[in-house]
Amino acid sequence: MEKKETKSLVLLEHHLKRLKMPSMLRECEKVAARSAKENVDHLGFLLELCEIELLEREKRAAARRLNAAKFPTQKTLDDFDFTAQPSLNKVLVLELMRGEYLVRRENCLLVGNPGTGKTHLATCLGTAACAMGKRVRFFRVTDLVTDLMEARDDRMLSRLKTQLRKLDLLILDELGYVPASKVGAELLFDVISQAYERTSLIVTTNLPFENWTEVLGSERLTGATLDRLTHRCHILEMNGESYRVSDAKRRRRRPSRPKKDEVGEDEAPL
Ligand code: ADP
Ligand code: MG
Repeated sequence: MEKKETKSLVLLEHHLKRLKMPSMLRECEKVAARSAKENVDHLGFLLELCEIELLEREKRAAARRLNAAKFPTQKTLDDFDFTAQPSLNKVLVLELMRGEYLVRRENCLLVGNPGTGKTHLATCLGTAACAMGKRVRFFRVTDLVTDLMEARDDRMLSRLKTQLRKLDLLILDELGYVPASKVGAELLFDVISQAYERTSLIVTTNLPFENWTEVLGSERLTGATLDRLTHRCHILEMNGESYRVSDAKRRRRRPSRPKKDEVGEDEAPL
């Protein structure tokens, strides 16, 4: 389309730049031409431009949120095979994907053996929360404890805690046998306490409740942590076989076995 450098167009471009409306700026001439051709009134024209700007803004914000959440890998629920995990409450998973628990500041606890898809599901739930405009951060518990201890040594602890406080959803992956020093355990407990009724938590663990003392090192801390975590909490139990193991078994049962280079390295011989 031929660009007409009228005075109003030059000024409009200038103003839209200052107003930080890049999508409106890019589309305004095109939409104006089409609106004129289709006899769309002025308000209809303005509405379409606003919608374009808003949509693109939301898309950019969602990408930023996803980036800030720092998920270890991308996972979708479409890739999750529920038949491989028959003990899992699928109805509850689908309900949690809708994110109402976040509004109610409820928590989710994903308990099960290694390889049963806890991290996969936690990532799906976190990704869905990002798409709903929520601020999310994923941590492996050991990494969070290290970050907290380092922040404490550098006198940056309150800054890190302020960042965590601003989240809508904090994912604590692999609450397991952390070689947690007493200080580490207290810092972790502090984060869980701070989140209570303010930020939703998703915690994944392969530990049955009775072993939690070994993680936190003290009956008092364990009791208090469990109390806060499990108050208003959805529990997803995944006690099936490791997905990798069962997937490898399925492949072995197939009559035509895959070629050697089609088998992932951690699915190798059983
Ligand atoms: P966990 O955190 O329970 O140890 P992961 O979520 O890390 O297990 O799962 C291990 C691998 O197996 C990941 O690549 C994950 O995507 C895959 N996986 C686990 N369960 C399933 C499932 N039911 N359907 C599809 N992939 C799965
Ligand atoms: Mg995991």
